[in-house]
Amino acid sequence: MSDRRKFVKFSLLSSAAILAGKNLFAKTNTTIALLPVPVKNEPIVISTWDFGKEANAGAWEVLKRGGRALDAVEAGVKIPEADPDNQSVGLGGRPDRDGRVTLDACIMDENSKCGSLACLEHVVHAISVARMVMEKTPHVMLVGDGATQFALENGFKKEKLLTPKSEREWKEWLKTNKYAPKNNIENELPGGIKNHDTIGMVAMDNNGNLSGACTTSGMAYKMHGRVGDSPIIGAGLYVDNEVGAATSTGVGEEVIRIVGSHLVVELMRQGMEPEEACKKAVERIVTRNPEQAKTVQVGFLALSKSGKFGAYALQKGFTYAVRSGGEEKIYDAKHVYP
Ligand code: ASP
Repeated sequence: MSDRRKFVKFSLLSSAAILAGKNLFAKTNTTIALLPVPVKNEPIVISTWDFGKEANAGAWEVLKRGGRALDAVEAGVKIPEADPDNQSVGLGGRPDRDGRVTLDACIMDENSKCGSLACLEHVVHAISVARMVMEKTPHVMLVGDGATQFALENGFKKEKLLTPKSEREWKEWLKTNKYAPKNNIENELPGGIKNHDTIGMVAMDNNGNLSGACTTSGMAYKMHGRVGDSPIIGAGLYVDNEVGAATSTGVGEEVIRIVGSHLVVELMRQGMEPEEACKKAVERIVTRNPEQAKTVQVGFLALSKSGKFGAYALQKGFTYAVRSGGEEKIYDAKHVYP
């Protein structure tokens, strides 16, 4: 082998070792010990709402053992998806006005690969179906019967998602609301019950890679076939591994109109901190239609490539959960309206 070829081979081996997180020569060869030892990042996961805490705990199990952010966000959001008492996600989710529980979800990794589905029925773990769309099909998004068919053909179990509690509440709603579709009925449910929420989660692993997941049963008592922001890449979730990741919750129609999560990431690319970027996105909704903005809730959550995080909402009450090595905490997001 010529000297040049030996050098090229040596360089490639060294680079490969560094990329794999190893420094082959650090102990044995003082000349080559100058090669940089890769820095390990502090993993972190953040999620929407108080119930993000349990979801974060699931994600943390993956992150703390050096797992991939993509695996962490999937494992994390599967926890509220499987919880029958969580009436805004997966099993037990509130149905549409026809009494059908339809799920929206999407997932995105550090290579900008993404998978999504909308109006999925009978399958608890929408997020895993979304991941399968990403990994096993040439497509990004499947909807309705096609999404359900894809899930069932690929081994997901057919289950009844409408729990007795959600069914009872829906029948009560039918009595007074006479089957009328409304855009935002969050504040109209008896007893102050909120009719929508979503688990949106973004995480960074110890290789500094970002991923995100977003899953919901959407707005309660929506028209059958209605799709919110949560499964729309760029609206409900966006990940750019060079810049950061963002996700949203609230009235999806408002988020779609400004392609909210993509906007937050682009604002971070321009140099804004996560909270400032979320605030600007929320203010975009206000500028677009101030009267409407006063009556609805939207919240954004963001994580930057440097591990900083922040959130902002239209209304008071949007909380988010953070889990890292040194912290496990629920924060109240700042908001536009009192
Ligand atoms: N964004 C969801 C939707 O519009 C609902 C929510 O997060 O509250 O379907």
